[in-house]
Amino acid sequence: MNRRNFLKGASLLSLGALAACQTKEAVPAEPVINTNKGLGLQTYTLGPELYAGNLSDNLARIRKMGIKNLELAGYNASSHTIGQLSLEDFKKAAEDNDLKIVSSHVTPDVLMAGLFSRPGAPAPKPKAFKDMVDEIKEFWKPVAEDHAKLGCEYLVQPMMPPMRVTNIGFAKDFANLLNVSGETVKATSGIQFGYHNHNMEMAKVTETSTAAVLGDLFSGMALGQDAKIIEDVYMDNTDPANVIFELDVYWTVMGQQDPVAWLTRRADRIKMLHIKDFMVLGASGAMNFKNIFEKFYANGNKYFFIEIEDTNSGKQFERLEQSALFLNTSDFVI
Ligand code: MG
Repeated sequence: MNRRNFLKGASLLSLGALAACQTKEAVPAEPVINTNKGLGLQTYTLGPELYAGNLSDNLARIRKMGIKNLELAGYNASSHTIGQLSLEDFKKAAEDNDLKIVSSHVTPDVLMAGLFSRPGAPAPKPKAFKDMVDEIKEFWKPVAEDHAKLGCEYLVQPMMPPMRVTNIGFAKDFANLLNVSGETVKATSGIQFGYHNHNMEMAKVTETSTAAVLGDLFSGMALGQDAKIIEDVYMDNTDPANVIFELDVYWTVMGQQDPVAWLTRRADRIKMLHIKDFMVLGASGAMNFKNIFEKFYANGNKYFFIEIEDTNSGKQFERLEQSALFLNTSDFVI
């Protein structure tokens, strides 16, 4: 064999070895499905599907996906009900299916009163945040008592009135309401109060701004160096003992912010997460769930809740099953 033929043979051998190697690697390992993790669900996700047919059967289906913790939506402060059920009946159905009610989302009526008017109706005149303090305190007392009966560890306010926080002063007034709410909830029931963000809290304001501005580029240009992110004003002006923060990672991204940067910078304030994507978890590839979960656990936290929008789609159970499978086959979720 001359040198030329040897090299030819050697390269063929290498190609053959490479091909064998690729064939071996081309057989994907079966994904390990672990349904014994700390998955949580924000029940808002299921919309009417949660109550279609029999609630207990639907909760059993949720539990089978590996979901152990619930965060409720749909509490009614006037009728003391959850969805269409009494608190006792809902609690029993959850317990019968080995589901723990960890948290619940509740918005004080007074916050949204006067914000929305029908066409042709007089312009609404919402109360100033400063004038709501007593009403807010009274609202939370019976709500906290109800949620103590449910065994909740957390009561979370899911939003703020849109378009009302236009400068730092208003943001501080709203933070004061959160603080008062947390103090009242804790004193009444021992339950920890929290706040959940959308993208509007990631907008910036200044002392003199007349509108909040979303996005670093434009807020930097429009509002200058003194601009503060509303969520930061809330964190800086609430007592950590009174108010924890539940970061919705999808809405944080929609607010042009990085959830991992928030989990790093505000490790002492963010205690729970909403795990959310554009629709089915993991499908968009836009959410860096691995880094999010790793930082969240490193901070010493455990409770997170899956949330999926489009609640009237009729496809929510299907989407939830796909989302739970994504988390159950992702080794960064424990
Ligand atoms: Mg959310």
